[in-house]
Amino acid sequence: MAFKQSKVAALLNEPGCEHNHQKGVGKNKACKQQAQPGAAQGGCAFDGASIALVPITDAAHLVHGPIACAGNSWGSRGSLSSGPMTYKMGFTTDLSENDIIFGGEKKLYKAIKEVCDRYQPAAVFVYLTCVTALIGDDLDAVCQAATQKFGTPIIPVNSPGFAGTKNMGNRMAGEALLDHVVGTVEPEYTTPYDINLIGEYNIAGELWGVLPLFEKLGIRVLAKITGDARYQDVCSAHRAKLNVMICSKALINMGRKMEEKYGIPYIEESFYGIADMNRCLRNIAAKLGDRELQERVENLISEETAKLNQALIPYRSRLQGKRMVLYTGGVKSWSVISAAQDLGMEVVATSTKKSTEEDKARIKELLGKDGIMLQKGNAQELLRVIAKTKADLLVAGGRNQYTALKARIPFLDINQERHHPYAGYVGLVEMAREIDEALHSPIWAQVRKPAPWTVNSYHVAASIG
Ligand code: SF4
Repeated sequence: MAFKQSKVAALLNEPGCEHNHQKGVGKNKACKQQAQPGAAQGGCAFDGASIALVPITDAAHLVHGPIACAGNSWGSRGSLSSGPMTYKMGFTTDLSENDIIFGGEKKLYKAIKEVCDRYQPAAVFVYLTCVTALIGDDLDAVCQAATQKFGTPIIPVNSPGFAGTKNMGNRMAGEALLDHVVGTVEPEYTTPYDINLIGEYNIAGELWGVLPLFEKLGIRVLAKITGDARYQDVCSAHRAKLNVMICSKALINMGRKMEEKYGIPYIEESFYGIADMNRCLRNIAAKLGDRELQERVENLISEETAKLNQALIPYRSRLQGKRMVLYTGGVKSWSVISAAQDLGMEVVATSTKKSTEEDKARIKELLGKDGIMLQKGNAQELLRVIAKTKADLLVAGGRNQYTALKARIPFLDINQERHHPYAGYVGLVEMAREIDEALHSPIWAQVRKPAPWTVNSYHVAASIG
């Protein structure tokens, strides 16, 4: 897939996406909006593509562009690996003015050779960036020639930053996998219980809290796309019986196109909270259509729920009735509500800025009539909502922690930089522990005390007066 405007338009019109502006009654305009030059968009398309592909751990990820692009997102995500660490190395062609004038294709070819010679990766993903797209480097041709010469799959990822937002980049990454990776290798064997997990990036090792459940049930995760993934597994993903979309918006084009091309149905699920985890396992078993598997799922759910209830005893009374403001995007905007409610907490407001119509319907149902849905958000608005709802805790992405400090309430990081896994049954215990520690830290008593200088000035004023 060379970078083409028509391809971008097709991705904007993704039929599987609820934001598709051709669906509905004209208010879903999110996909139409192109990134404005100079505007902070929360990540460019290149950033989005690298987020989606870098978790393939045994591959090298080479950024074809000026060095600043590589620094843009490298190392800031917490996708963990259970083995190879090649994905953690930052590779870039580091283009200079000369390359921009004379073209960067030769430099790219040499860089691919060096990466293959020195690190023998399972594959090399090469990312097009704004500059290399603008000077017209033919990424596809270089990658094709290098694949033939070096005998290693070299995958072009045509995702220059100017093509759109981070979400658009996620989809472009999906296109690269569909065009060059999925379906290129046959698995050693298949089972009727093979599934793919799509849109799960193993942040803070979350996947490892869920995989043992599938193992116990006899469900094989054929390919993880892409958390803790191995390149060969992604190649054979076309033989799965079911695609389970975890962050459904990110790679929705993969789910839909794999259904069209390989006849693999897809479902959208979440791993956060008891209710969602139970529903996820039940839906997978129902889709795989095996009665015995469904029975095993019911047994596992009773077992895990009993264990979980026991593990949550110390936290329930300490968290009961605490009020949370949630400020995150996509699937987490509703799935974390359900997890918080499982802990006896009340979510008083959540953001719907990046939510689909379906997400919003779920949020409404979960929040009830008094819950606040934040369509727009900034620090000022968050402070206003925190004060209005008398919230005890802000759960949001890392950059909002200072807003929480200004409001003098504790903060929990729920986005990609988080260091603790919250997925699955074990993840809920972890979340309860983290929230409990944040809420009951002794620091809050001190932070909320009047500042010494205000007390002193009062005494001084009183003694003078
Ligand atoms: S790809 Fe473009 S928008 Fe993205 S970091 Fe590089 S120069 Fe910036």
